[in-house]
Amino acid sequence: MAIIAFIGLGNMGSGMAANLVKAGHEVRAFDLSATALAHAVESGAKAAKSTADAVSGAAAVVTMLPAGKHVRAVYAGDVFPNAAPGTLFLDCSTIDVDSARFVGKAAVDQGFRFVDAPVSGGVAAAAAGTLTFMVGGAEADFAVAEPILQAMGKAILHAGDTGAGQAAKICNNMLLGITMIGTCEAFALAEKLGLDQQKFFDISSKASGQSWSMTSYCPVAGPMPGTPANHDYKPGFATGMMLKDLKLAQDAAQASGASTPLGAQAEALYAMFGNLGGQDLDFSAIYKMLNGSWKAD
Ligand code: NAD
Repeated sequence: MAIIAFIGLGNMGSGMAANLVKAGHEVRAFDLSATALAHAVESGAKAAKSTADAVSGAAAVVTMLPAGKHVRAVYAGDVFPNAAPGTLFLDCSTIDVDSARFVGKAAVDQGFRFVDAPVSGGVAAAAAGTLTFMVGGAEADFAVAEPILQAMGKAILHAGDTGAGQAAKICNNMLLGITMIGTCEAFALAEKLGLDQQKFFDISSKASGQSWSMTSYCPVAGPMPGTPANHDYKPGFATGMMLKDLKLAQDAAQASGASTPLGAQAEALYAMFGNLGGQDLDFSAIYKMLNGSWKAD
């Protein structure tokens, strides 16, 4: 199988790189953190000395980095000057649409292939190879990217041209933030009205209030045994991560002129909860702020 360079082996990237190894690819890994790199080597990847070293001679490059500024810097500084012509780049980081389009255009202008391919699903899905990829890029580049992404995911969806994957991701997560807050408010009101939470779940999950936030990720302990609410709100998907995506959505709304008042409110509420000490808890823990039981440690 082809050599794949993998840059960014943090919480998500480590599991994704391990799944590429399992699928039979030779993975050349690099991360600024020696610990992250050592972890990837334990999973069968080969350690590269630098991004330049990882990228040289690779048929494809996967990046899983924190934010747009890292993606811009890594591609311009180390990837473009060292990759062979025609190399496929897959940026799986969650970043702003403008950065995805900027890096994608620069790649294509220099004779490379590029897709933005952010993911839905957290650390557990990255480790299990069950991520959902939302992909932006030309049809021909999507066709080359799809088999690589299949080794790391259960659903690979083509959203449109470059940047469309990031657009789909931030719109989806803005909706998730809004429905989670709404679900928490409904449970908090039910509690004040003396309505048993299990009873409210049983009714609303079969009525028009049903949503993914209620029936796949219920924010109160009890109705769904596996959710973070049952484990002291250990993430899961951390409040800080949700806030990052809501900020990206608001930046995009401002830049495009879209009206997203509930998205703005969700961002403000998650920023408040983060400032109160909820930053590293699962995003469903905002329930505790809304029902008045929140106490920072
Ligand atoms: P992380 O911080 O754990 O990992 C990022 C890694 O990139 C770190 O190991 C860091 O050392 C490395 N890095 C930073 N700059 C670098 C550089 N210049 N060269 C090489 N390595 C560099 O983050 P994560 O949780 O793995 O998230 C990665 C991306 O995936 C983010 O964009 C995040 O929003 C997105 N995401 C995360 C989750 C989640 O649940 N963690 C879910 C969906 C999407």
